[in-house]
Amino acid sequence: MKITAALSGRGGAAPELVELEQEEPRAGEMRIRLVATGICHTDLHEHPGRHAPQPIVLGHEGAGVVEKLGEGVSTFEIGDHVVLSGNSCGRCPSCLAGRPTYCDLAMPLCFGGKRLDGSTALCGDEGEVHSHFFGQSSFATHSIVPVRTAVKMDKDLPLEKLGPLGCGVVTGAGGVIEALKVGFGDTIAIFGTGGVGLSAVMAAKLVGAKRIVAVDLNRERLELAREFGATDCIAGDEDDIAAKIRGVTGRGVDFTFNTTNAPPVHSLALEVLAMNGTAGFVAAPLGQWAPQMFAMLAGGKQLRGILGGDANPQTFLPQLAEYWQQGKLPFDRMLSFYPFAEIDRAFADAHSGKAIKPVLLMENGQ
Ligand SMILES: [Zn+2]
Ligand SMILES: [Zn+2]
Repeated sequence: MKITAALSGRGGAAPELVELEQEEPRAGEMRIRLVATGICHTDLHEHPGRHAPQPIVLGHEGAGVVEKLGEGVSTFEIGDHVVLSGNSCGRCPSCLAGRPTYCDLAMPLCFGGKRLDGSTALCGDEGEVHSHFFGQSSFATHSIVPVRTAVKMDKDLPLEKLGPLGCGVVTGAGGVIEALKVGFGDTIAIFGTGGVGLSAVMAAKLVGAKRIVAVDLNRERLELAREFGATDCIAGDEDDIAAKIRGVTGRGVDFTFNTTNAPPVHSLALEVLAMNGTAGFVAAPLGQWAPQMFAMLAGGKQLRGILGGDANPQTFLPQLAEYWQQGKLPFDRMLSFYPFAEIDRAFADAHSGKAIKPVLLMENGQ
């Protein structure tokens, strides 16, 4: 059937809305009518062409309604509300252990731009268009998704707000709760207060961390971090920043969570750890980074890469939504909504930092 989708790979600053032909869901897949899709930094980085092949429809924070079931799908019904998260194989040791973000096939399934058999779900005037980005390609009115990508959500929840749970919010909240396992009385410094960092701040408050230090260059964002639970806010351009962060407790922090890709911040996140502390990161340093690693990790310290917040989306996303309902995880305060037709403005505001988490609304504004 004909759908409207935002296509990357034509050289513009933002994906362009086009009409594409989308095939019917195959066995184990469903068609989702999208209500809204968040824009994440991975979309911004992939748009000019990085890991995924082009032309492609990006988008990996979709939320919508199940519209058609492929053969053999028995765990969903037409009309179910779903949030889309990453795709995974369901058979490798990580998937079987409930850690699908570390699926052995994560790269081909999330960044391959096609199914594992090489087919795509989309076709345009100039031929094949890549689909299945994170199992979704949700910058579109409709998406063909493998069942493992979809997480059923309560129908009382406002679907247009839920998409960011699938990547940005789970990456921050899961990073703190599931990966680092920050708990009562612990101390943490969070670097970068974008959507992921602010979700981490909210989660650290939720689990009872004693001191939550937020670090960013943007002072407005730091104010927001304070409202979300940061006990100490430090601007990244202040002098003696390492000493200031260490000074919050007098001995450094138990955990750091680095949401930036700046090499000096990766060093700083290790430097401010207390003895036996753990530094978690979600993005590799951009460019050269050659720290004195042995000196930095002496004292029982650990450096830990974290994908998708370590979380099992099937159980963790509904939990996050429940905490939101209770007012304990107000992630919706980070969202700015845009009609799908204004994706170029949404991309510009994401790049400039004007919007923390832009969300495209597929149903209005076309
Ligand atoms: Zn993402
Ligand atoms: Zn797997």
